[in-house]
Amino acid sequence: MDISNPSLAVACPRCGLLTPRFLDLCRNCGYKLWPSSYVASAAFKAWRAADPARAAASRYDMEIPQHVELVVDFDAKARELGIHMPPPSRWPFVICAGALFLSLAAIPFSNEVRITLAIVGGLIFLGGVIGWVLVEDVKMYPTESTTGGEAHH
Ligand SMILES: [Zn+2]
Repeated sequence: MDISNPSLAVACPRCGLLTPRFLDLCRNCGYKLWPSSYVASAAFKAWRAADPARAAASRYDMEIPQHVELVVDFDAKARELGIHMPPPSRWPFVICAGALFLSLAAIPFSNEVRITLAIVGGLIFLGGVIGWVLVEDVKMYPTESTTGGEAHH
């Protein structure tokens, strides 16, 4: 047996189709590839011991399983591509809360209730807009006008 051959699959001498190399019978036609399952297993163990990269292989596989990590770090990817990811903001929630009070003021309650709701809602709404546009934008782009370039962290 050729241990140096990395292939886990072999073409069956009878039917010509690929079959796992270390199973005693051809998976397609049942042709006896090995004298016995025991001999096939011993051959597989010798083959697997020849290379640490074959440790994950199984006699029933036709190729060595590859474990490729498919996790993508989108933040790192964005930095790589030069895309500016805005930090998560809570100000839109404040604006939504203000808008809720304002919409409550549209319900025909008594005048005092409606005026109170409108004032409270308007203050929250304005606070949210001011906080979002003025405070956060200044925080997000504090040095860009002075350095004139990207700040690398
Ligand atoms: Zn066959």
